[in-house]
Amino acid sequence: MLRRSEGKWRAGMAEDRTSEMEAALRKQRAAHNQMRPEPMGLRKNRIERAIKLLKDHADDLCRAMSADFGNRSPQQSMMTDIVGTVNFGKYCLKHMDRWARADKRHVQFPLGLLGAKAEVRYEPKGVIGILSPWNFPVNLTFGPLMQVFAAGNRAMIKPSEFTEKTSILMERLIADNFTPDECVVFTGGPDVAAAFAELPFDHLVFTGSTGTGRKVMEAAAKNLVPVTLELGGKSPVFLGESADFAKAGERIAMGKMMNAGQICLAPDYLYVPESKADEAVHGVWQGTADMYPSLLENDDYASIVTDRHFDRLQSMVEDARDKGAEVIEVNPGNEDFSNTNARKMPLTILRNVTDDMQAMQEEIFGPVLPVKTYSHIDEAIDYVNERDRPLGLYYFGSDSNEEERVLRKTISGGVTVNDVIFHVSMDDLPFGGVGPSGMGSYHGVEGFREFSHARSIYSQPKIDLAKLAGFKPPYGGKTDKAIAGQMK
Ligand code: NAD
Repeated sequence: MLRRSEGKWRAGMAEDRTSEMEAALRKQRAAHNQMRPEPMGLRKNRIERAIKLLKDHADDLCRAMSADFGNRSPQQSMMTDIVGTVNFGKYCLKHMDRWARADKRHVQFPLGLLGAKAEVRYEPKGVIGILSPWNFPVNLTFGPLMQVFAAGNRAMIKPSEFTEKTSILMERLIADNFTPDECVVFTGGPDVAAAFAELPFDHLVFTGSTGTGRKVMEAAAKNLVPVTLELGGKSPVFLGESADFAKAGERIAMGKMMNAGQICLAPDYLYVPESKADEAVHGVWQGTADMYPSLLENDDYASIVTDRHFDRLQSMVEDARDKGAEVIEVNPGNEDFSNTNARKMPLTILRNVTDDMQAMQEEIFGPVLPVKTYSHIDEAIDYVNERDRPLGLYYFGSDSNEEERVLRKTISGGVTVNDVIFHVSMDDLPFGGVGPSGMGSYHGVEGFREFSHARSIYSQPKIDLAKLAGFKPPYGGKTDKAIAGQMK
């Protein structure tokens, strides 16, 4: 049931939608309670249906994403949003039996000898809300969904309003392949999103900006709903003296130019040795030019998602220029970007940046790359440690002592060494941020556990232990002796 008129989300529908969403939640929770315990086969079947849906409609989804962005390479969308998510679903299918197994735990001596038992069961939480962003709209909706299903939950989804066509398509595909008490999508603008975040879910996963994440956590707190927050931040790249600057440049360029820098884990700024700054900048320039000899008519290069996002990036560059940065546009085809409405922006490297520049204060989320220099790597470490903990952190170099120093002295959600972003593509590694870049994680066994309730179950033996140990009233000398024994 769409709530749109002429491509715009209809205003004033929030109350309607709230009661619709509340009803859906009640229905899902009732079904969940009634059907428990659901067999693993049904959980797997839900994941298989999600995988099949992605495979069967891959082209439609890629077309919708391209239309939403203005331009986005279907091959890129296939890799980032379809293949990656299908493979993650397969990974869940392969490991979920093991993940779901109860853990036997130790009981204190001598309880085990007397027949006491303890175990942890990983049980479904119930109904999980998924709020997803626009930058990888399919991956960041279906990725969490795979593990939400693996852990035996039902899901309600609110995808982004910025990728409207993709969101509407996902709404239809989910409705065609799942019953509303298994999984349901609600589309709409920020008012619907805010109402969604207020629902008394059993858990809420939010992927998006740190600012909105704060609002989501506040809304969830009203019902004490536990949250997983997958947020953003400024992910730094440390280039050590020992780095191969040509290779590093290629890899940084690939990570920064994919999706036109609109990636939560995109390298946000570089920290390079003073004496190697020219070499480092040249490496990135060359790496970019090799992959994208032209941009405007190049379907491989994505557009910026909306005019507002585009204008923000332009003003970020102007702000840096006004405050004294050297601005280097990587425009190998010498194209004129001023007379186009394609919202394409060349990689723009900023040198001589200062902390008062917008580009050094906010997550960039686009093809703008500030470069800072250090005379000793510790300056870069201190700089990162004085700021919000980033989502990703990258080190390039062959000096293992320096690499270890950077890793041990900093904190970030995750790390890729000698490349950028790649740690997120390792299905078995937990993916998440820390502090302002997020809390909780999914992927790996950690994701299964995130969406499960670790339920402790202790079975008492027949023998009356409290009496035997002297802990049962009336207290007396036996109790004092038992306490003294325990305090030894
Ligand atoms: P956003 O925060 O603007 O929006 C994300 C979602 O929140 C959308 O579905 C939107 O409808 C909803 N929303 C808007 N207002 C809301 C409110 N008041 N209450 C509840 N929900 C609300 O983020 P975005 O612009 O779509 O995505 C870009 C940001 O997401 C960047 O900061 C990026 O780093 C981050 N991100 C993080 C990850 C990750 O996995 N850590 C992945 C992708 C993007």
